[in-house]
Amino acid sequence: MYVFDAPKQASLAVQGTDDRFPVRRIFCVGRNYEAHAREMGNDPDREPPFFFTKPADAVVDTPCTIAYPKLTKDLHYEIELIIAIGKGGSDIAEADVMDHVWGASVGIDLTRRDLQAEAKKMSRPWDWAKGFDQSAPIAAIKAIADVPSVDAGRIWLAVNGEIKQDADLADLIWSVREHVSILSQAMTLAPGDIVMTGTPAGVGAVVPGDVITGGVNGIAELQVTIGARS
Ligand code: MN
Repeated sequence: MYVFDAPKQASLAVQGTDDRFPVRRIFCVGRNYEAHAREMGNDPDREPPFFFTKPADAVVDTPCTIAYPKLTKDLHYEIELIIAIGKGGSDIAEADVMDHVWGASVGIDLTRRDLQAEAKKMSRPWDWAKGFDQSAPIAAIKAIADVPSVDAGRIWLAVNGEIKQDADLADLIWSVREHVSILSQAMTLAPGDIVMTGTPAGVGAVVPGDVITGGVNGIAELQVTIGARS
């Protein structure tokens, strides 16, 4: 018995069924495409991947309208391949990673870029820049058996129909097998964990009224409308 009703389980839609994917944690990979690392002022010489997190209840099914978040004047999109873990484990070998993956999708790592810049300058954590309400809109997850590849395929994002990000999963500095294996050396992964695998170059700001579309070829597409300021 709880002292009040237990929190609702965060979850995401699944392609081709009414069943839901229960979300446990959201891990995000930083700087995983060379051109994006460079546009953010970093040298991507294959420094080990680093991770940050968002709360599980930051997920939102797409299509959706998201309120423009508080505290920022510089809300950025980051289109990312999403990996959904179905089987837990630690110290997972690269060769075994795909046995732990339930499915894949596409999502946006929404970022309050001005707060992130301030956090970097002050050597503070990124949570306020990355982990706010509705900061992880994610399309319905596709079962991994139906996913052609997590190693190649166009990943793209457009704002009001104009292409802003356009790359290929083959450009990932740390592949899914590599970064999930490395992540599992730091944390015991569990069913329901989500990995946002990093964004390619071309990030930028959106304002209320903008319509974002994006996708990963062969996996999923999404649409997110930026609503009024909350
Ligand atoms: Mn990101």
